[in-house]
Amino acid sequence: MELALNKDDEAFRDEVRQFLKTKLPREVAEAKSVGVSVEKPLLKKWHHALYAQGWVAPAWPKEHGGTGWNVTQRHIFNEETARAEAPRLMPFGLNMVGPVIYTFGNEAQKAQHLPGILSGDIWWCQGYSEPGSGSDLASLKTRAIRDGGDYIVNGQKIWTSYAHEADWIFCLVRTDEKSKPQEGISFLLIDMKTPGITVRPIVSIDELHHLNEVFFEDVRVPVENRIGEENKGWTYAKFLLTHERTGIAGVPESKKAVERLHQISEATRGSDGRRLADDPAFRRKLAEIEIDLAGLEITNARILADAAAGRQVGERSSILKIAGTDIQQALQTLAVEAIGYYTLPSQRERLEGLPNAPRVGPDHAEAVFANYGFGRAATIYGGSNEIQRNVLAKAVLGL
Ligand SMILES: Cc1cc2nc3c(=O)[nH]c(=O)nc-3n(C[C@H](O)[C@H](O)[C@H](O)COP(=O)(O)OP(=O)(O)OC[C@H]3O[C@@H](n4cnc5c(N)ncnc54)[C@H](O)[C@@H]3O)c2cc1C
Repeated sequence: MELALNKDDEAFRDEVRQFLKTKLPREVAEAKSVGVSVEKPLLKKWHHALYAQGWVAPAWPKEHGGTGWNVTQRHIFNEETARAEAPRLMPFGLNMVGPVIYTFGNEAQKAQHLPGILSGDIWWCQGYSEPGSGSDLASLKTRAIRDGGDYIVNGQKIWTSYAHEADWIFCLVRTDEKSKPQEGISFLLIDMKTPGITVRPIVSIDELHHLNEVFFEDVRVPVENRIGEENKGWTYAKFLLTHERTGIAGVPESKKAVERLHQISEATRGSDGRRLADDPAFRRKLAEIEIDLAGLEITNARILADAAAGRQVGERSSILKIAGTDIQQALQTLAVEAIGYYTLPSQRERLEGLPNAPRVGPDHAEAVFANYGFGRAATIYGGSNEIQRNVLAKAVLGL
């Protein structure tokens, strides 16, 4: 594994930097830097800029619109975009259902859906979890019953991120009640405008609306919207989850958060006039996280290098999820400690992008509590950390 950049890599890094300097919309980077939600129209603008450059889907095979970058180039791109405060694009199309469609979909499905995912004109959401079926996903109960050329879908999904902004939802539904739970599931693509779908908001602890419940009442879905074979949806769903974990370590973002914490600690003074940056207890806590992050960065690079060399990565990626999210939460907790009582006032209106709403405290305090609050979810979604530990225990340690 080679960690230093060669001349070609440096040239590539400069090209990425130049692109970010000229094409990353300033208002997008500003919103990201204070932690304000990047609203859909702004995120679309950034998506379109990447699409126009041909850089929107680095992980896709070239024949489907990928960039053909090697692992080092993808690493450089991730580092540079995080450094420039470029937000991550919505993952549901690009990282999740897109790879399922180009791997298991038929030609008509590829032609219908891949262009809209790449251009960012069609937004997707993920309908997996249900009340009572999260970690134990295979117990899901939303039913799809065949009626001529359609399925009739009834049931409920929950925690559906951005369903209120999505055009389509990819859903796991039960098509066979008699066989083993994993063998009776199908994978359907459903237009969110279909009659019988109701979306209800769930406001999370950061006071914002990212999450939803989605109800299906006699929703007619054409059979041709099913991916692959009936009752084989679990195979496609598991394949998707491996793609969902792409970038889950979040190393570039955590490095940016470390940089921001240093800035906060330099700008913050205690009642004795001393800078937080000079407080030994604070410095020790930040240094401990930085050491963990350096370890994670190397582990991440080693796993990526194995993947690039065609070696089996398997369940080792669970390490990235656990360590990455633990570090993110430690950084968010330390940011709360740093700004102290400025975590108390509600900053909802400003976080929703209302720039005239009054700000309480310094700029850097604005999104700290929201990030801390919503950040609790990182150890739950994408397979909870307890489940990841079970995976490591069984598949890696052989316990
Ligand atoms: C912010 C956020 C966004 C999300 N977005 C989406 C989305 O877009 N689409 C979607 O489909 N879902 C989404 N989810 C749902 C997410 O996938 C589930 O919350 C997750 O799978 C956990 O399921 P659960 O909430 O039902 O908890 P449960 O499975 O009931 O787990 C509760 C607790 O028990 C622990 N636990 C459960 N089983 C075991 C076990 N066998 N061994 C040890 N511990 C165990 C868990 O780790 C957890 O701590 C989102 C969740 C969050 C928080």
